[in-house]
Amino acid sequence: MLLMTDVSKSYGSGVFALQDVNIHIAPGEFVFVVGPSGAGKSTFIKMLFREEIPTTGSIFVNGVDILKLGEKEIPYMRRQLGIIFQDYRLLPDRTVYENVAFAMQVIEAPYRKIKRTVMNVLDLVGLRRRANSYPNELSGGEQQRIAIARAIVNNPLMVIADEPTGNLDPETSWDIMQIFEEINSTGTTIVMATHDKGIVDAMDKRVIAIEKGCIVRDEKHGVYGYES
Ligand code: ADP
Repeated sequence: MLLMTDVSKSYGSGVFALQDVNIHIAPGEFVFVVGPSGAGKSTFIKMLFREEIPTTGSIFVNGVDILKLGEKEIPYMRRQLGIIFQDYRLLPDRTVYENVAFAMQVIEAPYRKIKRTVMNVLDLVGLRRRANSYPNELSGGEQQRIAIARAIVNNPLMVIADEPTGNLDPETSWDIMQIFEEINSTGTTIVMATHDKGIVDAMDKRVIAIEKGCIVRDEKHGVYGYES
């Protein structure tokens, strides 16, 4: 699913945000990316969908060398991924339904398919009854659930999340993680950067720890490993 080989990234200051990163993530894996602030987690995450490009090294996503893609091909590559951010990034002037449907309209799915699929994913995240609400009428946890629905509506190969529970209280964070578990149980790969020690320690997933741009741990059933 993901193969990074000898990836290093310098933002030009001479300091490496990532250095000699080698990672293989198989289809269906659930992976946490942890590490102190400034360690390189966001840089790592951004490279997975070509938001940043490495200074050296190669990145294959689902067999595609994403560094060789032309500008026009990048949006197609991103549509095979479900990307989720800490700050939700919803369209404020569109309803819950429209926010999710938008991702399918972009790929020109037929109207009836859009309606059926959007209602199904809203069911999955528990927001069917809020379909006609606007994002600012909902809580932070509910807004993140819209963002998750939008990320998965096109059946992505991999869900990539950067601190998705960073703005949420512990209980709401757990609800979000349950949705991630459910998505993962259908075979979707999940890569999630997080600072949430409680979640990482309880979920018993693969943990990749980054410090000062280097991978210092990669454990199949890992723990968070830092003070929270
Ligand atoms: P984390 O997500 O673990 O907090 P980042 O990937 O954001 O870490 O940052 C890693 C390092 O790269 C830090 O030293 C940070 O200051 C630097 N960095 C991140 N983004 C940029 C940028 N756009 N320009 C210059 N330096 C950056």
